[in-house]
Amino acid sequence: MTAPTLVPYDEVVERFDPVLGLEVHVELNTQTKMFCGCPTTFGAEPNTQVCPVCLGLPGALPVVNRKAVESAIRIGLALNCTITPWGRFARKNYFYPDMPKNFQTSQYDEPIAVDGYLDVPLDDGSVVRVEIERAHMEEDTGKSLHVGGSTGRIHGAEYSLLDYNRAGVPLIEIVTKMIPGTRERAPEVARAYVTALRDLLRALGVSDVRMDQGSMRCDVNLSLSPRDSGVLGTRSETKNVNSLRSVERAVRYEMTRQAGVLLAGERVVQETRHFDESTGSTSPGRTKETAEDYRYFPEPDLVPIAPPAEWVEELRATLPELPWEHRRRIQAEWGISDAEMRDLVNAGVLELIEATVAAGAPAGEARSWWVSYLTQQANTRGVEPTGLPITPAQLARVIALVASGELNNKLARQVVDGVLAGEGEPDEVVAARGLAVVSDDSALIAAVDEALAAQPDVAEKIRGGKVAAAGAIVGAVMKATKGQADAKRVRELVIERCS
Ligand code: ZN
Ligand code: MN
Repeated sequence: MTAPTLVPYDEVVERFDPVLGLEVHVELNTQTKMFCGCPTTFGAEPNTQVCPVCLGLPGALPVVNRKAVESAIRIGLALNCTITPWGRFARKNYFYPDMPKNFQTSQYDEPIAVDGYLDVPLDDGSVVRVEIERAHMEEDTGKSLHVGGSTGRIHGAEYSLLDYNRAGVPLIEIVTKMIPGTRERAPEVARAYVTALRDLLRALGVSDVRMDQGSMRCDVNLSLSPRDSGVLGTRSETKNVNSLRSVERAVRYEMTRQAGVLLAGERVVQETRHFDESTGSTSPGRTKETAEDYRYFPEPDLVPIAPPAEWVEELRATLPELPWEHRRRIQAEWGISDAEMRDLVNAGVLELIEATVAAGAPAGEARSWWVSYLTQQANTRGVEPTGLPITPAQLARVIALVASGELNNKLARQVVDGVLAGEGEPDEVVAARGLAVVSDDSALIAAVDEALAAQPDVAEKIRGGKVAAAGAIVGAVMKATKGQADAKRVRELVIERCS
């Protein structure tokens, strides 16, 4: 296979219009699976959360999880969809080792939610409306683990292992309509859509939406039309892109790759593609099946889903404040600018700050810790700020210790470092490292006198009324106490001792 010719991005945009489509699979955070009572805890020992139903053993009968239907309806409503009053599950037939029934129970032509939209905020503050075609319920498959290869893919592996813990976990698949007209912003729009959807689902409390753990997975469909022609091109479908940044990169890469194919006078192949995180490129998967290949038919073992209108209205009443409305309110409360707010959101620290404030810290303090020191720490460690081993409550405690004068800012950092290093709660770190501010005046007076004696010329100046010279003595005392003195109190004492 020859390497694809990539066309420079500017040229792609000049000659073609990208048409985007996004399919997002979200695992619901229900206690139990979609059609059986097995638990859904992530990371359990392989094949410990299984039963005859989710293993697809002959004769086992599924029962729908009410909570999953409830979440599906709430998602549909939050996406401004119509909730279908009656619909059946369908069998999507295909063989794959991680799906022991040989069909996935899904919804086909009778999805629970149809025809909605999501207003997606972009970085510059503008909003793009992305239309939603459908949101349907289905079950997740098990997981294959390919052992022995370098890539973790089946190709080159020595053998494969199967874990069915995930088989039957409730999924909602959310499919957009084609998104035209995004031009050079197509990669940004794709990323912004997935971000907005993630935030919305998180606010609904229906999923962990952890892309890194696979509880939210995105398939990126992309085709190119010759600029302003309106003629639809053939699309590729890049599967299971698992970070926001990768969504953006996958769109960009496919634009430059497909343009290369088209400009060479060839045709884009309709296929699924894999995204490679390390190179940012995509490679061909299987040639895309069509719906007919799946031989869909209504699932005879499940009753139709027919949510009564009153129930739907009850669920509508439980919808939370939308994330962007919430942000607007918080921004006003904290009195910060649009740009400052955007930085918080982009840095992924908004929720952390809110949680720190909820734990009792003033907003300004909480903000400054998360935006500067803790974001730096996260960058150094190569993790998201949410992945840092410090909780908002612990940070709030550190902030409280500073407010009460028990710590100064420098010491507070050392306490945070201790918490990050796993040394325990802030108070334990203070005790173990001996970090409390020296507030005992007699100890400070001794240090001040010593510093004055060591610098008699400076002491003379202060005695002569040159209060500005006190800085040198304060500095010496701070050094002698390893930064553990309250500098303001030291200054007061220096002046007292010289008058
Ligand atoms: Zn089960
Ligand atoms: Mn699906």
